[in-house]
Amino acid sequence: MKLQIDGDRLWGTLMEMGQVGRDGDGVNRLALNDANKEGRDLFTGWLRDEGLEIQVDRIGNIFGVREGTDRDEPPVMVGSHLDTVREAGVFDGALGVLSGLEIVRLLNQEDVETRRAVAVAAFTNEEGARFQPDMMGSMVFTGLLDAEKAWAASDDDGVTVKDELQRIGYLGHDELDAGHYLELHVEQGPVLHSEGVEVGVVEGVQGMAWWDGEYTGEANHAGTTPLHLRRDALLAASELCLRLRETAERLGEGSVATMGRLHPRPDIRNVVPGGAFFTVDFRQYKRELYEEGQETVAELIRDVAERHGLEHSLTQTVDAKPVMFDPGMVDLVESKTKELRLSYRVMHSGAGHDAQFMSHICPTAMVFVPSIGGRSHCPEERTLRADCVNGANVLLRCVLELSTGFNRTSQ
Ligand SMILES: [Zn+2]
Repeated sequence: MKLQIDGDRLWGTLMEMGQVGRDGDGVNRLALNDANKEGRDLFTGWLRDEGLEIQVDRIGNIFGVREGTDRDEPPVMVGSHLDTVREAGVFDGALGVLSGLEIVRLLNQEDVETRRAVAVAAFTNEEGARFQPDMMGSMVFTGLLDAEKAWAASDDDGVTVKDELQRIGYLGHDELDAGHYLELHVEQGPVLHSEGVEVGVVEGVQGMAWWDGEYTGEANHAGTTPLHLRRDALLAASELCLRLRETAERLGEGSVATMGRLHPRPDIRNVVPGGAFFTVDFRQYKRELYEEGQETVAELIRDVAERHGLEHSLTQTVDAKPVMFDPGMVDLVESKTKELRLSYRVMHSGAGHDAQFMSHICPTAMVFVPSIGGRSHCPEERTLRADCVNGANVLLRCVLELSTGFNRTSQ
């Protein structure tokens, strides 16, 4: 008989974690705050109950390791994060971590011996809501960010990551490796729910480019300055906003471009705006199109400035390239989803996840389950119990294959 996730136990665990940091309707477990510590303590208590060895690394990532018979091979790792944004729901992050816990509980209960170790991971500060950058724990774990730099990050009150790690007792020094990584996560978008599909087989994470830009013209009297003599920075930024939309449509393949902030100066009703600060966010999952889009957007910003006779400044603040997961791992997720006779679609993640950094060091894939109405990062975030259990069952089968298989070389 095939092992099955205990749906009641998984759901109960999720709901219990969802009470930690509860503040009105939402959950507030901002990275390294008191509620985050409480969530960590609850999680490590559960790991201890299963007899797992608990490891904490320098950035406070927590790993519960269930040993396999082969001690030379790195563990199959499953996980996600326990920190949340402010006024969050209960599923984002916690589902991935607690499904890993549920898998280990099941392996223990059924006395399953695995060849390779299974590690359940809870990464520090995935959300980036209190300390930047986001996905801090997985970036440090994979060597893409120095621990010292991450430690120095401070919140709005000037409190640093290192201070908080020390204060809550999660500044560790363990070092762990991962042979494979799998992450179950709620989609946080509307695709699966709107299409009535049960599982998302995630083959990659889309790239994201951010710019801060500023147009500078000339502030002048709104009554006395004829149109042809104006150097109106807000007019240019408005044109840019419209043309960004056209550009994304023309590039196609799911490209999206957004001007999320726009501040005219001096911001007075009877003055032609002499300055305009704006931000641009561009996303695309195909590597070549992402690069093309980046160039096109930067050119467009310059071009609009020229047409309006303005000076401009432009700083690119983020260039997170698209990530494609290991094809063997994506196939594995797809085949296990099929085995379970679940409906699925292969898709890309629109949001960033720890898995995108883990994919730099080991074969990685993700499993998505539907978010009702696509809502997330809010108290209304919901995923059906049946969908959580489906996703955890896909994860379970993948873990079993990777940890017990002898001939799988998915690199
Ligand atoms: Zn998340």
